[in-house]
Amino acid sequence: MKIERAAVIGAGVMGAGIAAHFANAGIPVVLLDIPAKEGDRSAIAKGAVAKMLKTDPAPFMHRGAAKLVTTGNLEDDLHLLADVDWIVEAIIENPAIKADLYKRIDPVRKAGSVVSSNTSTIPLAVLTEGQSDRFKSDFLITHFFNPPRYMRLLEIVGGPQTRADALAAVAGIGDRRLGKGVVHCKDTPGFIANRIGVLWIQAAVNAAIDLGLTVEEADAVGGRPMGIPKTGVFGLMDLVGLDLMPHIAKSMLATLPADDAYRGVMREHPVITKMIAEGYTGRKGKGGFYRINKAGGGKVKESVDLRTGAYAPSEKARLESVSSAGRDLRKLCEHPDKGGQFARRVLAQTLAYAASLVPQIADSIVAVDEGMRLGYAWKQGPFELIDRLGTAWFADLCKSEGIPVPALVETAAGRPFYRVEDGKLQHLTTAGVYDTVVRPDGVLLLSDVKRAAGKPVWKNASASLWDIGDGVLCVEFTSKMNAVDGDIMAAYGRAMKLIGDGKGDWKALVIHNEADNFSVGANLGLALFALNIGLWPQIEEMVEAGQRTYRALRYAPFPVVAAPSGMALGGGCEILLHSDHVQAHAETYVGLVEVGVGLIPAWGGCTEMLARHAKNPRAPRGPMPAVAKAFEIISTATVAKSAAEAKELLYFRSSDGVTMNRDRLLADAKAKALQLAENYTPPEKDSFVLPGPTARAALELAVEGFALQGKVTEHDKVVCAALADVLSGGPDADASKPVGEDAVLELERSAFMKLVHTNGTIDRIEHMLLTGKPLRN
Ligand code: NAD
Repeated sequence: MKIERAAVIGAGVMGAGIAAHFANAGIPVVLLDIPAKEGDRSAIAKGAVAKMLKTDPAPFMHRGAAKLVTTGNLEDDLHLLADVDWIVEAIIENPAIKADLYKRIDPVRKAGSVVSSNTSTIPLAVLTEGQSDRFKSDFLITHFFNPPRYMRLLEIVGGPQTRADALAAVAGIGDRRLGKGVVHCKDTPGFIANRIGVLWIQAAVNAAIDLGLTVEEADAVGGRPMGIPKTGVFGLMDLVGLDLMPHIAKSMLATLPADDAYRGVMREHPVITKMIAEGYTGRKGKGGFYRINKAGGGKVKESVDLRTGAYAPSEKARLESVSSAGRDLRKLCEHPDKGGQFARRVLAQTLAYAASLVPQIADSIVAVDEGMRLGYAWKQGPFELIDRLGTAWFADLCKSEGIPVPALVETAAGRPFYRVEDGKLQHLTTAGVYDTVVRPDGVLLLSDVKRAAGKPVWKNASASLWDIGDGVLCVEFTSKMNAVDGDIMAAYGRAMKLIGDGKGDWKALVIHNEADNFSVGANLGLALFALNIGLWPQIEEMVEAGQRTYRALRYAPFPVVAAPSGMALGGGCEILLHSDHVQAHAETYVGLVEVGVGLIPAWGGCTEMLARHAKNPRAPRGPMPAVAKAFEIISTATVAKSAAEAKELLYFRSSDGVTMNRDRLLADAKAKALQLAENYTPPEKDSFVLPGPTARAALELAVEGFALQGKVTEHDKVVCAALADVLSGGPDADASKPVGEDAVLELERSAFMKLVHTNGTIDRIEHMLLTGKPLRN
């Protein structure tokens, strides 16, 4: 079946977010809620869209996407459902109210359309009770996580009567169009992620209170060392809302099996109950386990004393166990201090619970690990964590904590849950044998390529070259935060040498990595070191080498395709600007942010932005609009908050591709590289018509205006003047004489060198390295 139009019923937190995400995927969507009691009867849905346009982080990838959402109410606009292929129900978590809604929409919807519920806890069997057979065959559960744009997990549950093609169509759209990691779950309470997550949270709260840890201590042990976001458990509860927990607990207890371990772990803590009753429900309430106290004009971070419920200034956790164990999870658990005891207790309960639930909640451990990684942003799932401890060691841990050793851990009998055999990742099945982890069609992971190859084609300290098959070579950055340095330039050089004219063993180059951020930009630490000892020729050479390398890639006789995800800033953005094609993950955040450290983009970033804006068919005529637009974007260090926004700013071209599912990014990039490699010809060199000093004067005047409003600092003026000089073409430019790109690149270099000689720029770089934040000097 085809899914081209969708509807979401319930315009609350989840429904509105899911509707926005359909729009992000380019799927027109109807959003309905109950009629408002007074005024505009569709006010709830309309209000939800209006609110989302002001929310940060934004539910929409682009403001324009909001146009794809048609709002309405469930009394006047029910007929709109007749037109859609997939209806997502995201109303209040109450089976009777949901059942009633299903009865109302069933006669209206078109034959063969799919209906799914976003329920967090109610089993499908309960939801479909008393519904028609036709309804049952069209019904499934699609459980999105909050916020729907950003959380990658989509749990899908079919019932015994659900049509296979409906299930496949929804899973396909969920994966490819919505970009989710689709995990098939069994019809059990809380499915995978919340089933385990809810017990984990409760176990951690109990352990913190029983062992006398502060919230900071509990989060310091229960976060990073376990590969869990640094919010740990208390920070996470503040984020989702403390008041949600009792509701979920109640709903889970109503449906969980009588002997479920959660029943033994679930406890009410009077301090937390009181916090909820008094409105201390987390970030959306008056504060949570943490709060920022602004009383008396101050800004003090405070936290709750778990014994008394009183707030006091937050104190950084200092636990021997955490500082001495580093990444060694077993060492952490073996430490005798309360951090070690906490780790032991929480991991034993949580991981044993997860292990006891396979195959009850999912057919394989792979689905469970994926669920926790994508739904709770854990770096590793429960079985990967058990492997870090060792299955035999973990069995002993369970015994010492008085927990029955799960059957699956017995089955492992000391063997790991995952192993690599002939370069392939395998997982242990419930039958006790190993099976290869199979990726869906169209998924190519660099980590799989690396595992299979064992070693790269070539590497140095900051980059590796990998053979990703069919004659395509891949550059992977491996430096800290993927900062760009001389070694990365050398890796490009080596790649160009290997690929040659693109007619031998290699045909094309892809630039990609699987880190959270593609690249944070040039290595400032190195630059500052050189600045401090006055290595001016070396600095100039660094700039020149970057320009030379990026230009060489752009005019190379083979195609270069960049496949970024996450942040691609500064020098990391400039390589994208020089690629023949960018195949970007939808969640790519690009920007030329050099002015933040008192610099201008000098690896061709200014030149490229000028060229793109000059060629923009939607811009007014004449040389000035392109100059003004590039100036506006670079001088304000504008970062696009999605690939869609990057297209609007022309960081990406309209021809560049966007992949919604990160796991499909490399395969899409490789396919594009191979397509371009057929009859490839490199692009022509650009030439520019630049307006010269009058334009520079106009830009500086505008900056003066902002300075008068207090929006521009003293050193901003210096940096802006240098930028204006480059973009207007320098003192000798005039609109009657086009100049080549080499001339503009030279302007970039000289402006850069002028700026690195200023104290204001050096202070900015130092401050950025020290604090990670820009200095406003
Ligand atoms: P919410 O309270 O924010 O929104 C619920 C919406 O349903 C409201 O806009 C309300 O007006 C509407 N509604 C209430 N009664 C209705 C009725 N009779 N008919 C139609 N609409 C009605 O709730 P939410 O957090 O968005 O949750 C919605 C669903 O998603 C629930 O099933 C919940 O369990 C599930 N869920 C929530 C989260 C989360 O983190 N909040 C995550 C995953 C799933």
